[in-house]
Amino acid sequence: MAAMTMCPRCGSHFLQPLRCEAKAADVMLVELRCSDCNTWLKAPHSRADMRELDRLQAEYRTKIVAGYERCVAESMEALVTCFEHALALDLVSADDFRPRGAAA
Ligand SMILES: [Zn+2]
Repeated sequence: MAAMTMCPRCGSHFLQPLRCEAKAADVMLVELRCSDCNTWLKAPHSRADMRELDRLQAEYRTKIVAGYERCVAESMEALVTCFEHALALDLVSADDFRPRGAAA
């Protein structure tokens, strides 16, 4: 038995363990969902396999958080660039910061 670390349908490594159920002293039936193709499956795992799943999930979470933070930073930089151009072209006034629905 080895930890299921790859989706049998699409080959993605982003398998998310959802719940597990003890089947024997060293066998857990783990329900996994592939976050790329949304396949759901169940696979038996030993306690060592479970530790490997936990380790992989922590590693992938770190990658996802880094990707998210990079995406947010790029988005903010793009907004700053647009705002700088708008200021340089004198296209921004105090009215642009009035709450929506407030009287002019
Ligand atoms: Zn998949």
